[in-house]
Amino acid sequence: MNASLDQAFEGVKRRDPDQPEFHQAVLEVLESLGPVIESHPEYLEVVNRLVEPERLIHFRVPWTDDSGAVHVNRGYRIQFNSAIGPYKGGLRFHPTVNSSILKFLAFEQIFKNSLTGLPLGGGKGGSDFDPKGKSDAEIMRFCQSFTMELFRHVGPDLDIPAGDIGVGHREIGYMFGMYKRLANEFTGVLTGKGLSYGGSLIRPEATGYGAVYFAREMLATKGKSFDGAKVSISGSGNVARYAAEKVLQLGGKPVTLSDSSGWIYDSSGITEDKLAWVNDLKCNRRGRIKEYAEHFSGVTYTAAEPEPSVNGLWGIVADVALPCATQNELNVREAESLIANNVLAVVEGANMPCTPEAVEAFRNNGVLFAPGKASNAGGVATSGLEMSQNSMRMGWTREEVEQKLEGIMVGIHTNVSETAARYGREGDYVFGANAAGFLKVAEAMLAQGVV
Ligand code: NAP
Repeated sequence: MNASLDQAFEGVKRRDPDQPEFHQAVLEVLESLGPVIESHPEYLEVVNRLVEPERLIHFRVPWTDDSGAVHVNRGYRIQFNSAIGPYKGGLRFHPTVNSSILKFLAFEQIFKNSLTGLPLGGGKGGSDFDPKGKSDAEIMRFCQSFTMELFRHVGPDLDIPAGDIGVGHREIGYMFGMYKRLANEFTGVLTGKGLSYGGSLIRPEATGYGAVYFAREMLATKGKSFDGAKVSISGSGNVARYAAEKVLQLGGKPVTLSDSSGWIYDSSGITEDKLAWVNDLKCNRRGRIKEYAEHFSGVTYTAAEPEPSVNGLWGIVADVALPCATQNELNVREAESLIANNVLAVVEGANMPCTPEAVEAFRNNGVLFAPGKASNAGGVATSGLEMSQNSMRMGWTREEVEQKLEGIMVGIHTNVSETAARYGREGDYVFGANAAGFLKVAEAMLAQGVV
């Protein structure tokens, strides 16, 4: 890495030595920026400001469970960068949430939002609250308590949170209700809202659909398509389910899904009917993916291992792999097994699901590899479209929103590919995404002076 960028990275580690996920995300970007800084030395100063969040908000979230016992969780909002627009990024409710994970996610979000071409800055937030096993009333009380503090720091022109792991329609609804009550106004302060109160059609589908559109564009560069392709997918949440749906629409065959307890392999393919069953399982009954193997015949279920191995989900032979669950879920041994099985493309639906060593292995072995900041940008892009519809006090049709989403994903693919080619790095989506995302933000930061 360029010596000045290396110095910037050392500074990041020195300031927060206990934030490995944040270091990983920063290193991945800085490693790409050498050629960009060589052609734009004026952007070097910007890097030191870019790696420091503009504002970090930590707060206490007390709530009462159904038996009357009081619990305390930690709430966070990381307002990382507002150079090109108001802060935008999801809220994650998961017991693993901490400053390191949220800073990594907020940092990634800066570049992702820049790539969408929309005026959106980078942010992220959430809590170490675990929604699993909680009653509806407990979820509501938690969301209300969380919003009682969060509402001071967000607003439709300031910071517009959305969902992420553990935060779906239900949680967004409860938070929106409390925000409206506290702020005494009905505004588009959150995205991922229900359709009856300002949500956008296609928002739930957008991240999964967008990742598959991006994968389609990548495959086309090699004269390939999803038609007849076998596709392994991890996760069974919002991103994974709609990625599977779009794969089916494009003629592919999804064969795996997972949750944190284990994974299923359906060699005959996950059909639309089976996917509808999974939607009901995950959204209404809040069940486990294991039940899929109990309900449908010819399906194997394997419990998750503490240390992922080649016998896991990524050991299945597939043409395309879509990791759509969580960070660092696909390690180098699993990458090697995908490579040995001749995988054509690995496209991140989740944020940073592949470890740096796994990414390196894909890039060194000619596998088409898309980093999440490019390939999963469809969700935030459609959140941007939700904000536009809220501001205009109107709603677009399903076809209109999906057409815009597809246009944005094709545009990101073109921008990333052309930027890589301009620097002599054809086909390097990691470099292209980091460089293209950075250039727009750096130009804006330089123009706005030292703030
Ligand atoms: P979700 O609906 O909550 O689903 C998450 C899925 O991943 C679930 O199947 C979950 O299983 C699994 N999972 C979570 N933590 C895990 C862990 N530690 N080990 C193994 N599996 C785990 O969330 P989502 O919205 O689909 O988000 C999935 C990923 O996409 C995340 O990385 C998120 O940041 C990223 N992303 C989401 C969006 C969006 O629009 N939603 C946009 C861009 C990127 P359990 O149910 O057992 O926990």
